[in-house]
This record gives sequence, structure tokens and C-alpha cells, in this order.
Amino acid sequence: MVIILLGPPGVGKGTQGVLLSEALGWERLVTGDLLRAARREGTELGERAREYMDRGDLVPDEIIIGLVGERLRGLEPGQSVLFDGFPRTLPQAKALGAALPEVGRAVDGVVLFEAPDDVLVKRIGGRRSCPECGRVYNVYFDAPDLEDVCGDCGAALVHRSDDQPETVLHRLTVYREQTEPLVRYYGEEGTPLLRIEADRSPVEVRDALKVELTARLGVEG
Ligand code: AMP
Repeated sequence: MVIILLGPPGVGKGTQGVLLSEALGWERLVTGDLLRAARREGTELGERAREYMDRGDLVPDEIIIGLVGERLRGLEPGQSVLFDGFPRTLPQAKALGAALPEVGRAVDGVVLFEAPDDVLVKRIGGRRSCPECGRVYNVYFDAPDLEDVCGDCGAALVHRSDDQPETVLHRLTVYREQTEPLVRYYGEEGTPLLRIEADRSPVEVRDALKVELTARLGVEG
């Protein structure tokens, strides 16, 4: 299976990606995490990405497409994969559509998570992420047992620099302008679109997603 998790920042793609990959053993390919890791390691790619990320803008397509291409070639045969945060533009979607057949794959489905903007802004404000294992917490409704410490791996949680209030509204605009058109694109491609109402608890969203994945794509587990 190749599944794309689509939706605005703060809608819960990361949380659902972790839950799903734990339940089904699927690989997560999270471009935001790959970029943040590159920044921490101080690589040239990380340095190039930094200014875009801090402004809440998208990193140029050629950087992202190169990054994802490398990962795709490293996938084990038969390993299901969840894309979180990719593709985010039409050129990225087209590049993915061209690259997947080379590794014997195609996009099986797109999950679109939806929630009102005020909910997204609040969620992003409360978000704390684990830089080590990728787990995402929220101080309002999914706080870690120990403040600012990951319950899974013990790493110190971070409040992302691009999760600050002034950047968040810009990221929502960027999403509407550059990423939302992918819904139509995949519709025209005939790819199944699974719409998930994400303004509810992570467990409720997970259960709704499971129901849809089984009903629409025959996913068991
Ligand atoms: P995320 O963690 O998915 O919200 O991504 C954080 C930031 O990384 C975004 O605001 C972008 O600056 C950058 N980024 C992540 N994925 C992509 C992508 N597919 N295309 C362009 N920029 C990306």
C-alpha cells in the first residue's frame, strides 16, 4: 500500500501516521521530520531548508523531490508506506506519480483530514514534538506524563520554531494555495479519496480512519 496523508498543518497527520504505522507495521515517510533531522545534523540540505521552514514557506520542490526519491529507492519490496507532508505541490505529486512505477508502486489512496482553522491554530499552539521518535503531544488534550519529556523514548520535547503563532496563519494560507489543489488532482487521477473529520480525539479519528481504510481499500488489521 502507498497512502498519502493530506491536510492542513495541525490537523493530526503526524499523530495518525504514528498510530497507523504502529498498528499495521507500515513505514512512515515524513518530509518535515527528514528536513528537521537534516537541520539538526547541519547538512547542506538542512541549511538550505532552514530559511523556508522558519518563514512557514514550502521548501523548493527540487530539494524535496530529491530527498523523497532517495527514500523510495531504499524501500523494501512489499513494504507499505505512508506519506506524511508529501506531496505538498502539484510538481511534487507529479514527480511521485512518475517515480512510483519505477519501484513497482502506485498511490493506492489519499486520506484528507479536515478541521476548522480555529481548531488548527489552537492545536498547533499546544503541539510539542519528540525530535527522536517523532511522537507528537498536545498540552491541551494529549499531554506527556512528564512535562516536556517524551513518554516513549525519554527525549526532551520541542515546540517547533514554525509553530509560533505568526507563522501558523501563513502556513495555513500556503496549504490552501499550494497543497489543497492536490485533492482535485488526485480526484482526476481516479485515486480513492478518504475524507476524515479530524475535529475529535486522536482515538476517534484513528477509529474512523480504520473503518474507511477497510471499507474503501480493503486494509485489515
Ligand atoms: P511539517 O512538519 O509537515 O509541517 O513540515 C514543516 C515544514 O517543512 C513546512 O512548513 C515546510 O517548510 C517544510 N516541508 C515539509 N514537507 C514539505 C514538502 N513536501 N514540500 C515543501 N516543504 C516541505
